[in-house]
Amino acid sequence: MISYHEALDVIRGLAVGRELAGEAVALEEGIGRISACDISSAECIPPFDNSAMDGFAVTASRTRSASVAAPARFRVVGCVAAGDPIFRHDGTPDAAIEIMTGAAMPEGALDAVVKVEDVEILRDSRGKVSEILLRRPLKSRENVRGRGEDFRPGQRALAAGTTIMPEHVMALASLGVARIEVRRQPLVAVVSTGRELVHHAEATLAPGMIRNSTAPYLMTALSRYGARAKYYGAIPDDPGHFIDIMAGILRDAPDVILTTGAVSMGKHDFIGAALEKLGATIRFHKVAIRPGKPLLVADWEKPFPAGPKKKSPVVFGIPGNPVSTAVGLRFFVEPYLRAVAGLPPEKPMRAKITADSTKPEGLRCFFKARMLVSDQGAGVTVLSGQPSFMVSPMLAANAWAVLPEAENQARSGTVVDVYPLHPASSGALHD
Ligand code: AMP
Ligand code: MG
Repeated sequence: MISYHEALDVIRGLAVGRELAGEAVALEEGIGRISACDISSAECIPPFDNSAMDGFAVTASRTRSASVAAPARFRVVGCVAAGDPIFRHDGTPDAAIEIMTGAAMPEGALDAVVKVEDVEILRDSRGKVSEILLRRPLKSRENVRGRGEDFRPGQRALAAGTTIMPEHVMALASLGVARIEVRRQPLVAVVSTGRELVHHAEATLAPGMIRNSTAPYLMTALSRYGARAKYYGAIPDDPGHFIDIMAGILRDAPDVILTTGAVSMGKHDFIGAALEKLGATIRFHKVAIRPGKPLLVADWEKPFPAGPKKKSPVVFGIPGNPVSTAVGLRFFVEPYLRAVAGLPPEKPMRAKITADSTKPEGLRCFFKARMLVSDQGAGVTVLSGQPSFMVSPMLAANAWAVLPEAENQARSGTVVDVYPLHPASSGALHD
């Protein structure tokens, strides 16, 4: 039996040489995908100086002595709105131009904008705005949004290894980026094992049978993790059946094969032996964790299937209890998917345990937990109902509390690693 950290080292080692290639997609299609390269701005954004307010563009130096008693007076010689070309005026120093938010600043000495609420507007006999009175000085560039103030040419707008969020789409759209290079989505083949399993839609259960809850869980969770998941069905506990289904799976050349069940010590736990029969190498089988201890990872050492460079899929044989399956996905498969996507290891949050919690000594425990951040800081409560068959506590959980191997308890107040139930796609909220 190896430790969790040793298992992670093996998993990250298997990712080397199996990194997902990049592919170009339309910007909007990149949402949720992982960028494969840096993108820098080619332009100044904003592309031109423009007004931050609805108001009047004037020459700031002419307002230096403006006051309530002695207002500065300007003649309004034009009007510009967003989308209008740059206004060219006659150059007289007392000229003002009515300007709307987003309109380009007029050419020449008009270098500040006073908002419409801050001036007195004088109208001519036909009611047209003709002059304004300004009762305070303006600073040069007041209410002006400068060319290049948001992005300068060459400024990095997107780093490789970023999960694309709507905010990235907004930034890249403003830069005119129409296509982006993202990592190919890994294909994950999912197989359930267990003759007791029936499809989850089954209304009634025959004696001894249970519904397959983890296949739908894995398929939906994997799609959230950016993978393409393909389900190959549930097979009885029979190595022959497994070997048959594997032939079809291997033809589809997935990046990962994820099996559930049949990796423990029971009579029908055939996955390890069947994989060896198929020529695979078991990299480890059994990790010092709870739940999910009998977890197995395998691959084929030889180039695969025939091509000189192609590496084999990596097989994760995950125990069948639903919470063991969830832990296997979250703490083994997901780190592998991160590694092949070129992402750094996920950093945990840290929180204080709110009550003494017992645990088996020597095992790293991934416990269903609820984390809350309050005035007292971050606290994490280990939920009751930790057995790996119990799904109902997952409904109250929002996180996994990780209790390290040493000792048989974690005392209230101890600070532990906490991971959100599913990886945060919008970036960590901590260092
Ligand atoms: P196994 O890992 O095959 O020994 O299965 C451990 C326990 O998990 C058994 O009680 C199985 O009935 C149950 N189990 C296995 N696969 C599933 C599944 N897909 N959905 C729900 N329970 C399962
Ligand atoms: Mg089984």
